[in-house]
Amino acid sequence: MNEFEDIKALEEEAKKLIESAKESSELDAIDTKFLGRKGELTLQLRKIGSLEPEKRKDFGAAVNAAKNMLAGQLADFKRRFAEKEKELRLKKETLDVTVPGRFYVPGTPHVLMETFDDIKKIFIGLGYEIFDSPEVEEYKYNFAALNYPEEHPAIDEQMSFYIDKEHLLRTHTTAYQHRVMLGRKPPMKVCTTGKCYRVDAVDATHGHTFHQVDCFAIDKGITFSDLKGTLLHFAKSMLGQHVETRFRPDFFPFVEPGAEVAVTCTICGGKGCNVCKGSGWLELGGAGMIHPNILRGAGIDPEVYSGFAFGFGIERIHMLLHNVNDLRMFMDNDLRFLRQR
Ligand SMILES: [Zn+2]
Repeated sequence: MNEFEDIKALEEEAKKLIESAKESSELDAIDTKFLGRKGELTLQLRKIGSLEPEKRKDFGAAVNAAKNMLAGQLADFKRRFAEKEKELRLKKETLDVTVPGRFYVPGTPHVLMETFDDIKKIFIGLGYEIFDSPEVEEYKYNFAALNYPEEHPAIDEQMSFYIDKEHLLRTHTTAYQHRVMLGRKPPMKVCTTGKCYRVDAVDATHGHTFHQVDCFAIDKGITFSDLKGTLLHFAKSMLGQHVETRFRPDFFPFVEPGAEVAVTCTICGGKGCNVCKGSGWLELGGAGMIHPNILRGAGIDPEVYSGFAFGFGIERIHMLLHNVNDLRMFMDNDLRFLRQR
C-alpha cells in the first residue's frame, strides 16, 4: 500500500465513524482523532520528508484535501446534531399547562375554635371584655385567692399537675379572676376562655386537658337575677331559643350562694333520652355570686359591690351542638374529624 492509499484509508475510516455517530460529543472525538494536532491525518504530513521530492507536493495536497473534506463533513454533521439536540431540549423543557398542579391541604383552626368564637361573640355582645391568662398558674391565683380551704381535695398533688411548689397547670380558667380584679376597679364585666388541666383518667366524658369559658361581673347592686338572665340569654343564643335553664344549689369555694346550671336537653327537647339519662336536663357548669372573701382579697368592698361568676366546659357545649359523643376526639388529631369545621 502506498502513502496515497494510507490517506484514502484514513479518510474512509473517518467517514464511516462520522456517519455512525449518534451525538455531537462523538464528532468531537473523531475531530481530535483525525484532525487534531496529533491526529492521524495531521501526522501523515510528517512523512513528507521521507518521500521522493516529486511526490511531496502531491502528497501534501492530498493530505490537506482529505483534512478539508473531513472538516467540512464534521462541521455539517455538528450543525445537524446541534439542531436536533436543541429540538429535543425544547421539547423536554416545554411546560404542559394542562397537567394538574400539586394540591396542598392548608391547615385549619381546630373544630373547637368555632365554638370558642361563638361563645366570645355572645359575651362581647353583652359588653364583656375578653382576657387571656397563663396556663401555668401560680398556686395563689388558682386556689388561695379563690377562697379554697387548704384541705380542699383539688389542691392535692394527686388531682392537679404541679410544676413546683408554687406553680401548677391551671385547673380552671377561674384562676384569672384575681389577676383581673387586682388591676381594675368596678364596674367590670370580663370573660376568658382557654385550656385547663386536671389529673383524670381519660374516657369518653373525661380528659386531663379540656377547655373552659369563665365570666364574671362586678358592680353595685348586682343580684342573682342578673346571673340568671345572663345565663338564659347565653343558653338561648348558643343552643337555641327553645332552651330553658335550671339552677340548683351547689358548692364552689369561690361563690356564695353557688349553683349548678343545667339546660333543656338539646337532643330530646326535655322529654328525656339516653344522653340526659331520662331527666330532660343537661348539666352545663357552675355559677354563683362571688364570695365576699374574694372581693375583699382584691380590695373591693363587698358592702358596696357584688358580683356573679360562672364557668362552663367548652367541649360539653360543642358536643351538644354537633352531636359529638366522645371527648377524646378533640385530642386525637384524626383529620377526618378535624376537617369537618
Ligand atoms: Zn335528652
